[in-house]
Amino acid sequence: MAAALIDGRAAAEALRARLAITADFFKATTGRPAGLATVLVGEDPASGVYVRSKGKATREAGMESFSHQLPADTREADLLALVEKLNRDEQVDGILVQLPLPEQIDAARVIDAIDPAKDVDGFHVVNAGRLAVGADALVPCTPLGCLHLLKSHLGNLSGADAVVIGRSNIVGKPMAMLLLGESATVTIAHSRTGDLPALCRRADILVAAVGRPEMVRGDWIKPGATVIDVGINRVPAGEGKAKLVGDVAFDEAREVAGAITPVPGGVGPMTIAMLLRNTLVAAHRRAGLAVPEDL
Ligand code: NDP
Repeated sequence: MAAALIDGRAAAEALRARLAITADFFKATTGRPAGLATVLVGEDPASGVYVRSKGKATREAGMESFSHQLPADTREADLLALVEKLNRDEQVDGILVQLPLPEQIDAARVIDAIDPAKDVDGFHVVNAGRLAVGADALVPCTPLGCLHLLKSHLGNLSGADAVVIGRSNIVGKPMAMLLLGESATVTIAHSRTGDLPALCRRADILVAAVGRPEMVRGDWIKPGATVIDVGINRVPAGEGKAKLVGDVAFDEAREVAGAITPVPGGVGPMTIAMLLRNTLVAAHRRAGLAVPEDL
């Protein structure tokens, strides 16, 4: 039987509807909307699309969006000065500096400058550390979205064998920490892992965050496993066109897995929904309000 599809679009829509209600409550309680500031440096078309869609989703959820667009030749000192200004701005609860940054700017230094309480991407070392020790943290949006899909589909993850392919600070490592927090038994694989197919075949939960089109084949998957495909890869589709595929060979995997996220329409939509969620969490904490349980 073909695997069940885990519908990230529907899950994200449901979450965003809940977030809009919470955003309304926040505004009614504090007298101001929760605010997200986005910073885009340069003209990269893909980054421009991401930032605009984040701004639109923010407004649709009843929050304030402050967008800052800087030229590609912006000096690091000027970007740091803007971050400092946003750190001090009481209307701003979340700061998102879109990556990648132009080469004259050290991204690590910029992330370091963001107030951890406003770091809605969850990339600051303080938030990474808090996640690692199991304290309240702002957690990177993509792995948080993956966890939401996994818990909605499977319920309890305790004792499950989980394999995460990829060890980036943005996806793989925080994903592993989140799964560990749910008491899964977690293995992190990467480019030096030996016999990756055999390792994957042990996994009840397989998360692929690699950036290699359709690398994970059907015969790498344990029958009935839940597969989360984080990969977004643009590949040629003939006649000069391109299409998006994940890191998992979807058609093959679907024959073996119990459930799988499609690409597009799986993890992708959850990422923006979780950015809105993190902004609301940051807003509540900054205002000294309890964070609603269902966020
Ligand atoms: P990175 O390039 O930072 O990390 C990729 C990881 O995959 C590395 O840890 C690397 O290992 C590992 N890897 C590379 N080749 C292999 C291999 N042959 N076998 C095993 N492991 C391998 O990517 P990201 O984590 O930023 O992103 C991963 C994917 O997720 C990309 O396709 C990206 O587009 C997508 N993505 C999707 C998002 C969404 O919203 N859906 C958001 C963010 C990312 P090593 O460390 O040894 O080099």
